[in-house]
Amino acid sequence: MRRVSIFGATGSIGQSTIDLIARTPEAYDVVALTGGRNIARLADDAVRLGAELAVTAHDELLDDLRAALVGTGTEAAAGESALIEAAVRPADWVMSAIVGAAGLRPGLKALEQGGTLALANKESLVTAGPLLMEVARAHGATVLPVDSEHSAIFQALVGEDMSAVERIIITASGGAFRDWPLADLERATVKEASRHPNWAMGQRITIDSASMFNKALEIIETHEFFGIAPERIEVLVHPESLVHALVGFRDGALMAHLGVSDMRHAIGYALNWPAREALPVGRLDLAGIGQLNFRHPDEARYPALRLAREVMARGGLSGAVFNAAKEATLDGFIAGRIGFTGMAGVVEAVLERIGSNEGLIDANMTLDNIRAADHVARSLADEEMRERAA
Ligand code: NDP
Repeated sequence: MRRVSIFGATGSIGQSTIDLIARTPEAYDVVALTGGRNIARLADDAVRLGAELAVTAHDELLDDLRAALVGTGTEAAAGESALIEAAVRPADWVMSAIVGAAGLRPGLKALEQGGTLALANKESLVTAGPLLMEVARAHGATVLPVDSEHSAIFQALVGEDMSAVERIIITASGGAFRDWPLADLERATVKEASRHPNWAMGQRITIDSASMFNKALEIIETHEFFGIAPERIEVLVHPESLVHALVGFRDGALMAHLGVSDMRHAIGYALNWPAREALPVGRLDLAGIGQLNFRHPDEARYPALRLAREVMARGGLSGAVFNAAKEATLDGFIAGRIGFTGMAGVVEAVLERIGSNEGLIDANMTLDNIRAADHVARSLADEEMRERAA
């Protein structure tokens, strides 16, 4: 029996992971499930899967979780320290699917235990890629990508030598507004931005797909995970979302990974790796699809892509600043404090204001310094949004 834990179990990735695990419950011993506000779902799944421990990130919800688990044999706990406690419980395979920078600390703690971390939480790599990979190396742990593009790259690289890789192309659907006239984007609502044309995902990543902040994070994620130079990473808009990524080799060959838009493929690949087992996902009917389209992204429509390249060029803790400013600005958009097209301007202003602060950006990549950079970025983003609203 493999011991598994799922961080962010109540979310979109967490639920897809549970869907796979629940198909062969005899193969898994569920150690910990964690969630946020969705206590009913967390408790139901913890009981159904016989989890040892269920954790909510919110202290004030501990009584509700305890009440839902009374007499079930699953322990209840809450708060950041409980998330860390869940991460240090021995497990062979841990899914990191908390949304946002909050996923970093539990992911690092899980890596320190030396098992396998299936990484959906791309914010960890954007915020602290070198630290995360170093902790994995130091503890003999394995990090497997779960983002569909990165799983696709990983699969295209099986048996290959990185020195033979010339370029990596990640695809982007273009998000909810890819066909909107540029002038209309200013009035785009949260509801409209939350509808993805091809994928069913959590609200935050769906809005980030519309603005391409998600793709910006993924460029940085590709750079950190595969150690490839930023100028060798390309983005193509591919409206069908069927080719997830391509790897170009020095002999001119281009290896593409195709599959239906179902995250259970990438999750299942990470769950069964290095084996490839049958998965309950649809099969592509290429003749039925007929054609696949690709085009260069319009940088005027998607300024986030340029910002990602600036962040990689700056290095240091600028990834942590970028991610935190992006998260705070997304909160601002969801709360109606800033318009859709205003988000990139706020993030850029924060990067500019902090960029010259060498003490902050070039500080050692420790959790304390990352937390400090994250904090400053969020308060500057807040200030920028207040000024723009005034
Ligand atoms: P969801 O919003 O659907 O789920 C997020 C999960 O994190 C929920 O379990 C939520 O709890 C929990 N959570 C939220 N805030 C906190 C916090 N502060 N501390 C601890 N837990 C918290 O997100 P997704 O599943 O869409 O995304 C998860 C991660 O995977 C993200 O990093 C995303 O970028 C990445 N990803 C997602 C893909 C997708 O298809 N959805 C594809 C590729 C990557 P609750 O809901 O109970 O409040």
